[in-house]
Amino acid sequence: FTTIYRSFAEQVELRPGKALFELPDGRGITYRETAQTVERIAARLVADGVAPGDRVAMQVEKSPEAIALYLATLRVGGVFLPLNTAYTAAETGFFLGDARPRVLVCSPGRRAEHADREGEGLVVETLGTSGDGTLLDGDRPHGNGPHGERHDGDGSHTEVFDAAADDPAAILYTSGTTGRSKGAVLSHGNLASNCQALLEAWQFTAEDRLIHALPIFHIHGLFVAANLTLTAGASMHYLPKFDAEAIVGLLPEATVLMGVPTFYTRLLKNDRLTAESCASMRLFVSGSAPLLAADHQAFEARTGHAILERYGMTETGMNTTNPYDGGPRKPGTVGKPLPGTEVRVVDGETGRVLPDGEVGSIEVRGPNVFTGYWQLPEKTAAEFRADGFFITGDLGRFDEDGYLCIVGRDKDLVISGGYNIYPKEIEELLDAHPTVLESAVIGVPHPDFGETVVAVVVPAPGRQPRAGELLDFVTGDLARFKHPRAVRIVEALPRNVMGKVQKAELRKRYGDLFA
Ligand code: ATP
Ligand code: MG
Repeated sequence: FTTIYRSFAEQVELRPGKALFELPDGRGITYRETAQTVERIAARLVADGVAPGDRVAMQVEKSPEAIALYLATLRVGGVFLPLNTAYTAAETGFFLGDARPRVLVCSPGRRAEHADREGEGLVVETLGTSGDGTLLDGDRPHGNGPHGERHDGDGSHTEVFDAAADDPAAILYTSGTTGRSKGAVLSHGNLASNCQALLEAWQFTAEDRLIHALPIFHIHGLFVAANLTLTAGASMHYLPKFDAEAIVGLLPEATVLMGVPTFYTRLLKNDRLTAESCASMRLFVSGSAPLLAADHQAFEARTGHAILERYGMTETGMNTTNPYDGGPRKPGTVGKPLPGTEVRVVDGETGRVLPDGEVGSIEVRGPNVFTGYWQLPEKTAAEFRADGFFITGDLGRFDEDGYLCIVGRDKDLVISGGYNIYPKEIEELLDAHPTVLESAVIGVPHPDFGETVVAVVVPAPGRQPRAGELLDFVTGDLARFKHPRAVRIVEALPRNVMGKVQKAELRKRYGDLFA
């Protein structure tokens, strides 16, 4: 068994002078330099009182040093806990109260928010986007260990924690799409096994140059994009955030892009995205939310590349992927289970496994599946079956070729007059109308039916969809109880930073249409 940290350390030995990070200004940061930064931060964390099992929280803008902080935490046996930078002080307060970290590394500008918490067993460090802040400040005059002791923070050597597969490596909070975010405790074994499965599935090697434009407080940017790169000995074109112009400019030097679906929607609007600009690219990955089939097709028509869609979640890492080779990448599907991971579709009530083609609850089991929700033993117990399968909360079916199709979330299912309605079925019909760019179908309270269907529609560029026309267009293909009772045209769907449509927000907005 090898950990992410040990795999990284091996790459440092193998290729110390190779650039791990290629920065937008042309500078590179080598594996050796990164390892040195990791050592310095590790020493600082130990000086701050971090012992194995202690949480190290991070809420900073993305930077190479922030990734070094992640590695340093693993090195000393800490539990890495990245927080979305968009959280307000109150939201952040909830997460800190819940996770009780030993150290919080925050942006220099946000230090004052934590004044009250400091001293109560919490050490606050700062880290700016250019390596500034207290975390890497070697000349700090006073140590600020938990008991006010002085430490010689820098340069000292720290032992590499000898992590076992079951030891916790990270707590990642879920995106909060369906309710309050839960902290998923992921072990070293979870991270390493999923990383290994993906390296093989996507044939990721040291030759790869990945465009990294995702946030690193989420599984996609941290445990997929960053872990694969730094354990393979590959390099990343580091971008602080999504920027279509910058990405199009980097494509000719890169081999892989990993993005959320909105990346692709936005790249398609850029005229410089061409087959030629993608000549050195070998792989475009999409995940975290459903990729529009129309975007998949448009991207392939424009660049010659079929986007590879995969399916995962905070609690499980990646579960399924479309094939890298040896089969088609089917739009609207998330592919087949990764080796080592079992995926089944069951009747949510009885737990009975359903035949292919039938929609049911998606459940997964494997070395990638988390150990439980942080301090929520009852919630954890409720989400696992007796045989160890985790209930994902997603609904889907296997098609005739064994590809998984996600039809939506359990919580987004509309139940009207006692009938189940899967929003995706109606969304796909709406999306096929030439005046529609995309749509979201939700259930809202209705006095007779319990819930009824409302369609929220975004116009295609320069088009003006009409409600009556759209209804005529879709109703022929839908049983009467599935017909939308209202259509609302909006400029854009509410989305979070991972590109997830906020259906709860839409339900709130249109909740009293029929009340
Ligand atoms: P919360 O659990 O707090 O409500 P969340 O489920 O959105 O939030 P994440 O763990 O970030 O938090 O997201 C995982 C979910 O994202 C999956 O359960 C699934 O619903 C969705 N998802 C991920 N990849 C895909 C994909 N390729 N197609 C469709 N949905 C996807
Ligand atoms: Mg979830």
